[in-house]
Amino acid sequence: MFWDKDTETLDRDSLRQLQMQLLQKTVAQAAQSPYYQSLFKQQGISPDKINSLDDLRRIPFIEKTTLREHYPYGFLAAPKEKIVRMHSSSGTTGRATVIFHTAHDIDEWAGLVARCMYMTGVRENDVFQNMMGYGLFTGGLGFHYGAEKLGAMVIPSGAGNSKRQIMLMKEFETTVIHIIPSYALHLIKTFQDEDVDPKKDLKLRIAFIGAEPHTEETRRRIEDAYGVKAYNSYGLSEMNGPGVAFECPQQNGMHVWEDSYILEVIDPKTLEPVKPGTEGEIVFTSLKREGMPLLRYRTRDLAYVYPEPCPCGRTHCRMSRIKGRTDDMLIVKGVNMFPVQIEKTLMAIPEVGTNFLIILDTVEDNDQMTVKVEVKSGMFTGDIKHLETLRRRIVDDLRSEILCTPRVELVEPDTLPKSEGKAVRVIDNRKQWG
Ligand code: AMP
Ligand code: ZN
Repeated sequence: MFWDKDTETLDRDSLRQLQMQLLQKTVAQAAQSPYYQSLFKQQGISPDKINSLDDLRRIPFIEKTTLREHYPYGFLAAPKEKIVRMHSSSGTTGRATVIFHTAHDIDEWAGLVARCMYMTGVRENDVFQNMMGYGLFTGGLGFHYGAEKLGAMVIPSGAGNSKRQIMLMKEFETTVIHIIPSYALHLIKTFQDEDVDPKKDLKLRIAFIGAEPHTEETRRRIEDAYGVKAYNSYGLSEMNGPGVAFECPQQNGMHVWEDSYILEVIDPKTLEPVKPGTEGEIVFTSLKREGMPLLRYRTRDLAYVYPEPCPCGRTHCRMSRIKGRTDDMLIVKGVNMFPVQIEKTLMAIPEVGTNFLIILDTVEDNDQMTVKVEVKSGMFTGDIKHLETLRRRIVDDLRSEILCTPRVELVEPDTLPKSEGKAVRVIDNRKQWG
């Protein structure tokens, strides 16, 4: 099950040593960029002075805003003629940022994605349907190159066009798919409409789901409906895109490829490292990138690192599911919550369909939260009492999860807005005070 056994099972001491060697190289490469050149000069930093993780901590964090302030070329560390591609973040929160890659960067990235796919059992004889947006977004091309490197046959179907997706799966006997989890849930309904039972009529065996936060309940729904094993795939364009962290066959935490990234977990308020196993904000340093090395990039993603090693034999640490981004935490009537908590509650209720929307308003100077929930097909033709019982159950379950009582509206399947990319779960119409 190993694409690169030596690297994937390297003992922790050697892995640390490798990281420090690569870090020095990265710092030297970063010094070629206008941003790091002036920063290092100001702070007296040079590659030979960065010999440990403590030394790395002398380098200030960067954030999306830092990248924006130095847009577009402030972090470019290679001559422009060496750059072969640019990508950008999907910009769910503000203006996009751009990342530049050399041919070597693209090859390294494809190697990481191939490693992830191979780990879950994808092989040359697989047919891989990549249902992710191609273009500036990294999910499409990132997986495309990885799957080609592995030798699978790629169907670059891109996002959307559900009926054609299903037709392709049938006619070309797709075995592996890559799909955004909220879209995977929508597609379950299209399968029903098309009278296709994925478990009987298709050859699917593996799904890669990622690019947005989702819960164990959603994974289970996808696995049950598609008859696949679904693996969580994490990445961000600032660190290439997919291939940063990925689940192994244990499906219990995502291995962060520490030969290519240094992971730090910090308290987002004090910026100090948290204890292993404690949740915090994920910070990455790229270790192999030439075009645009980034040191200590604050992702805003919240997760924790598993303190114990993985039974699969890989020595690279595991990171939990992403709970959310520090910037998508909702504060409703003073209570903090994340949209995934609502997803988790809803997806555990069998009568609930595949989509929901959280709407926040100000009513008489108070926060009001409404959760619109699609129910399964056929529910609206049934007994009204049944619907009301379901609605009350949803209110109760949500109250115990998020400690605040939302209004719940049940709606027919396929009536809430859907997105082919990352789902938009929250509409916040509240008045901004001050
Ligand atoms: P982008 O750079 O546009 O591809 O967006 C990257 C962001 O998407 C990450 O920082 C996360 O917030 C989110 N993301 C990507 N993969 C996952 C995943 N598997 N689980 C949760 N969030 C994810
Ligand atoms: Zn493992």
